[in-house]
Parts: sequence; structure tokens; C-alpha cells
Amino acid sequence: MAEFCDVALPVPLDTVFTYGIPDGMQPVVGGRVLVPFRQQRMSGVVTDLHDRKPKVVTKNLISVLDPAPVLDDQLIRLGQWIADYYLAPVGEVFRTMLPLGAEFKRAIAYRITEEGQLALHLAGMSGSSARSQKTPEDQFAEFRVLEYLTERETTREESLRAATRASKALLAGMVRKKWIAREDLSEARDAARTVKFVSLKNVDGKLNANQQTLIDTLAAAGGRAPVDALQSLEVPRTTLSTLVKRGMVEIVEEAAGFTVSGLKGRPRLFDFQFNPAQQAALKSVQERVHAGKFSGMLLHGITGSGKTAIYLAAMRSVLEAGRSAILLVPEIGLTPAVAADLHQLFGEEVAILHSGLSDKERAEQWHRIKGGEARMVVGTRSAVFAPVSDLALMIVDEEQDPSYKQEEMPRYHARDVAVVRAKMANAVVVLGSATPSLESYFNAKKNKYTLLELPDRVEKRPLPEVEIIDMRQEFQETGSEQVISRKLAEEIKERLEKKEQVMVLLNRRGYSPVVLCRACGKTLECKNCAIAMTHHERSRRMECHYCGYTAPVPKACVHCGSEYVYFLGTGSEKLEELLHGMFPQARIGRLDRDTVRGREDFERALNALDEGELDLLVGTQMIAKGHDIHGVTLVGVVGADMALGFPDFRAAERTFQLLTQVAGRAGRGQTPGKVVLQTYFPDHYAVQYAAGHDFMGFYDKELRFRSWMHYPPYSALANVLVRSNKLDEALGWSGILGKWFEKTRHEGIRVLGPAAAPILRLKQDYRYHFVVKSASRQKLNALLRSMLIYAMEKKIPRTQLIVDVDAIWLM
Ligand code: ADP
Ligand code: ZN
Ligand code: ZN
Repeated sequence: MAEFCDVALPVPLDTVFTYGIPDGMQPVVGGRVLVPFRQQRMSGVVTDLHDRKPKVVTKNLISVLDPAPVLDDQLIRLGQWIADYYLAPVGEVFRTMLPLGAEFKRAIAYRITEEGQLALHLAGMSGSSARSQKTPEDQFAEFRVLEYLTERETTREESLRAATRASKALLAGMVRKKWIAREDLSEARDAARTVKFVSLKNVDGKLNANQQTLIDTLAAAGGRAPVDALQSLEVPRTTLSTLVKRGMVEIVEEAAGFTVSGLKGRPRLFDFQFNPAQQAALKSVQERVHAGKFSGMLLHGITGSGKTAIYLAAMRSVLEAGRSAILLVPEIGLTPAVAADLHQLFGEEVAILHSGLSDKERAEQWHRIKGGEARMVVGTRSAVFAPVSDLALMIVDEEQDPSYKQEEMPRYHARDVAVVRAKMANAVVVLGSATPSLESYFNAKKNKYTLLELPDRVEKRPLPEVEIIDMRQEFQETGSEQVISRKLAEEIKERLEKKEQVMVLLNRRGYSPVVLCRACGKTLECKNCAIAMTHHERSRRMECHYCGYTAPVPKACVHCGSEYVYFLGTGSEKLEELLHGMFPQARIGRLDRDTVRGREDFERALNALDEGELDLLVGTQMIAKGHDIHGVTLVGVVGADMALGFPDFRAAERTFQLLTQVAGRAGRGQTPGKVVLQTYFPDHYAVQYAAGHDFMGFYDKELRFRSWMHYPPYSALANVLVRSNKLDEALGWSGILGKWFEKTRHEGIRVLGPAAAPILRLKQDYRYHFVVKSASRQKLNALLRSMLIYAMEKKIPRTQLIVDVDAIWLM
């Protein structure tokens, strides 16, 4: 029997922690345990069992949460690979891999100490506390807490804060003064595979307002609703228990069922013959799967060439062979209709994972997969960690999509993790896209991946003709700044007359993106970020699109008081209004983050277009993503080249991808489509190649540029960002690291910086960064690792230092 175990904890420290195993406890490698850590209880994953006595005194485990591993050997190795490659603490990686937060209940509680009693007593005698230099409000709050606690035993944090309105900082201060003591009562919850329902029984007798609300809600829901669903009502929890006691409602616990959207799958799914290119692609995927060895494939198929059908057919053959497959889709791709299609195809054998699930639902799906009930997994980024056994096929749809990169610790890229996982499992990985990333295309060119091409649209439908409108020339000819060119206006009119449908892309939401003062020349910036605030007309607010801060619409300049404030530029909200003015008869819808709150809204707008209830749809890049609406014959691009002005080496690639994708929305039905592309950069190669549907041309040119500039895929790159809400701290730390980089200059590594990040201030933090590049990933990672150690010696907090390996944004 091992005496000790090493545990990976979700804390920002690059190490595991050793704990003693008390008699009778049997932790397992890959299973979770509850341990004391500093003042808290925490759950972590056991990585090793051993008898090596550590030099420092160890604490003991509190309890074992899993009698059997929740992470198998392969997933543990995958987690260790991620920790190593992305320089992330392994405990944080494991936490990301295990969506089981719902099974662990955090609970912090406080009780009053003798010192606290004394302080309260003294305050009662003298009327105030002489010791504290805080504001009177804080003092009052402290005494409210003490008074509240004298009357009670240990009290949960939430109740205490609700009753006394004390902030967390205030409680922490009182703990330091030893007036109150903090206890961690966190514990494991039962694996949540049941749902509690409330149902109506006999309602008679008098009801108060809260009870009436609850009963009415239940009645409206057909007499039965999940307990969780009632929590959004503004009634105290006790109301429900009172009603239970009075026998008017009852609570029953039921096994959680598997629910996807109630929508019916589309009948057209699969009622066609695959064309020869599809057949060939499907056959090679199936052959590779059958061979049972690792194999990477890049499925490059133009928009509308029928890639999705291949994914689903390949997955079905995996299911028939009794093995497992995972399909990753971008954030926006998993609409309820897609879920319904999947359910129709795979029945109860499919698990669907997306960011809209509650912790409990996510845990429930996880258990279905782990238990082998669901062998087909479809989901967004973190579904790459789905605990399937016998993985045969991993598919990444729209593999270039930035939503695959997690922009918080651990900063992994799900596509790259998918490739590594497939390798570990001897499985096949298929990366699919109409506009593959430079990285993947480069790998295919170097024969690391097999390239599968679908060069034609299904049923030989033609790609749309693209006409470029030079907006500088439009300005000269019309003498004013136009949002919609004469040509685009004319084309829209024509389509509307023919009862065809139109999409217009403007990749910027809000009404006006800039408010400028004509007297002093300054703009209205966010108070937290160095970013101009956007005017939103409908909500009558100014909004920062980076941190969400809002402010009233200014009547006068906030800097100089002048009344000459001007609202400049156009966002999607204003564009919709303009189009209404120009085409008053047209039924116009808008799709952007202000009109779409959830997947359902997104789906509703697209359905309205599909059903012919809309003539024109305006929107941001949301309208560009992979949907398939046959009535759209014209796509207008009003603004999609803004990124070309950004200092980001991926700007051209992103612009090319966006233009190609939005162009791909036109002419997917019987009638051929057209694209009118307005731009201020008509000669830019990203615009030119997108207009010519020339993928190879773009990639070859872009690869040459990347090679000259030592950018990916020719170099490994990391963005190292130092941030602090104090300017001098951010500057000081970046100076310290800058000197260190200079001193430790390494062969074959380029370091650019320190430089102010393109967005100097974001969410109250000042930001400086380094871009580190090397042709050798080993060298790059070794350097970053020693930098982290040096930063720790220099007391730069790990949380203020972001190391982003394979960064996709350098902003
Ligand atoms: P992609 O993902 O490449 O853009 P999809 O797989 O969405 O393309 O296919 C586009 C449309 O064509 C879908 O409605 C799909 O059902 C249909 N489709 C796919 N393959 C064929 C085929 N061989 N014949 C006819 N229609 C097809
Ligand atoms: Zn001013
Ligand atoms: Zn902001």
C-alpha cells in the first residue's frame, strides 16, 4: 500500500502536491481526491501513488471522491502534454478536461471568535472602534457582521453576505484581524444523475403572494417543472418547502433523461447520392479508420461542397463498427437544428456538448460518454476531452475557426489537441474547411496530412461571381462618404424585385463606432480600456465592446465640455436603419450579438430567412458561418476589411477567410449567386484572391510572406503579456523581463519587445508584451520555462503574466 499520493490541483503553480494517505482510504491514479490546500478544501486529480517521504511535512487527504479513475491513462498523458506544450499548470489542465464541477460543492463559512466578541463588546461601550482607520461605512459593516454572527453558529458565506451586505474583501480583512474565523466546508456531491421535479398536488387554503407566484408558475408549466427552473423566480427558497409541508406540491427525484431540442431533423438529410469526389473522400477516411493507425487528413472542400455529409457518414460507419468518434464544431455551429439532425441520425448514441449547457447537464453528458452509452460525441472546443473509449475518428469542422483556441488558462487549441489525441489513440483525425488555416495547409503540403479535395459544389452549382467596388473611387465620384455604394443599392433593388433574398455583411456591431469632439479632437474612451466606445441607438447607451462597460450617450464632450460632439461611422444597427430607409417594402432582419442572445435567436433568424419570411438579413460575421440557405442570391459586403489595418500578422488570413465564407452564402440553391464586395483595399491580395475564389493563390503568397517574416507556420510563436492595473508595475515587470531576455540571448530565438500591446489598456489593466519566435519549438519552450522561473524569483505574480503559446491574437 502506498503511503503518499501526488495530486494535481487547479492552482497557478507548475507543480503537483504530495499528501499522506490515511488508513482505509484508497485513492487511484486518475481519480479525484479532496485535500486541504492553504485555508481551503480543493479537489484535484491523483497523478501518482508512492512511498517516497517528502522533505516537508505533508497533510493528509480529506476524502477520496472517485473509487475508479475519471481520467484514463491516455487522457492523463494528453493533459500532461498540454501542460508541457502550453506551459500551463497540470492541475488547471485536468480541471478543464473534467466538466464535473457540479459534483463538488464549494462552501465557505464564518464564525465569530473571542477577539470578535471582545471587539463587539468594546464598541458597544465606547460607541465606536478607535482602532480602525476605515471609513464609517466599513466599520458599520464590520459590526453588522459581528452582530449577525454572535446570534448564530457557523454561517455560510452567501447567507452572511446577503444579510449584512459585506464584501469579500471586508470579510477577508476581518479574518486577518482574527475577529472572525473562516472554515471551508466544501464537500463532494453525489454524481448528479438525477433531476428534482416539483409537481402540483392539492392546492387549497390561503396563499401569500410568493406562494401564489410559485403555484401559478407551476400551473403555467403544466403542473410540473424542474426545481432548478423555479430558482429564477424572485421568491425565497423557504416558499417551496412551506408548500411541500402543506402538501400542495411534492418534489420527486428522477433519473436525468437525455434531452435534445424538440425540433425534427431535416428530411433532406442523406436523401441524395454522394458525388464521386465525396465518395472518394469518404472511402479514404473509412480505409484509414479500418487500418487502425494514426493518420491526419485535411479535407479541403469549397463552401457548399458537401463536407458535413462526409463527416456524418464516416461517423456512422464508426458507430456500426462499435467504436467511437468525436466531431468538433465551432461555437456558432451547434444550432438546435443541427442537434436534431444528429439525434435523428445517431439516436441515443449521440452526446452533445456545448457552452450553453449547465454544469449539471454537462456532467450528465460526461457520464453518458464515460459509461459507454454515447459513442458519438459532437461538441465545441472542450469536447476534444470527451472520455470516449476506443476512439477511432476525430473530426474538426471549420478547423481554422478561432473559437477552438481557449483564451484563458490553459490556452490550448482544440484542433491541435485533437491531432495529438488521435495520435495517442492510433485514430484518424480529419480537419475540414473551405479555408484551411495556413498551419494545416502547410502540414498537408509537407505530407504530414493527406489532402482530400472537394473542388466543386454539390450538383455542380457555380461559385458566385464577385464584383469589387473601390470605395475610394465611390467617394470621389459621389463627393461624400457612402455606406452603400450605388452598385450595391442597384443590385439589392433588382433582387428584391425578383423576390430573391439578400445578405449584407458589416463586421461591426452598434450604431456608430466613434464619438468625436470637433472642438478638442478627442474621442469618448472606455474608462477601463484604451478603446473608443460604441454608440448603441436602441439601448441609448455607449458601450465598450471589450469589457462591456456602458455609459450614457454624451450631450457634450467629456473632455472640454463643447457641444460639438459627432457620431461617426456605421455599425450593423445603423446599416439596418439605412436599408429600411432605402427599401421600405423589404422585410429586414439583423443578426449580431445585440439581437442574438442564445442559439435559439440565431436559429430563429436563419429559419425566418429560410422560410422566406425575410427578404434581407444584415449582420456581423455571424451571417458568414456555414449555414445553407438556398434563396440567397446576393451577398453584399459593406465592411469586412477593417482587420487589414490592424497590426496583426494574421489579418490577411482572417480577412481572406471571412470574405470567402460570406461569399459562400450566395447561390447555394438553383439560381446562381453574386457578391458585391465594397472595400478600401481593392488591391490587397487577400481581397483579390478571395474575389477570384483562388485558395492556392492566396496560400502561396501568404506562405511566402510568413516565411520572410519568420511567422508561423515557419516559426513557433508565443505572445508573452505582462499586465497590471498599475502602470508602473506593468512597466517595471516588462522591464525586468526585457533585461532578462537580453541577457539570456539564445541562438535561434527572436524576441520582439517589450512593447506596448496594441490595446494598451484593457479591463483596467495596462499591458506590455513580447513576441517570441523560434524555428525550434523545443528551444522556444525551454526559454519560456526559464523565463517563468525567473519571473517567480522576481515576484512577478503568475496571474499577471500570460504566456500564450501559438497565440492567434497579438492585440
Ligand atoms: P459544406 O459543409 O461543404 O458547406 P454541406 O455538407 O453543408 O456543405 O452541404 C451543402 C448542402 O448540400 C446541404 O444541404 C447538403 O445536404 C447537400 N448535399 C450534400 N451532398 C450532396 C449531394 N451529393 N447531392 C445533393 N445535395 C448534397
Ligand atoms: Zn472636446
Ligand atoms: Zn472597456
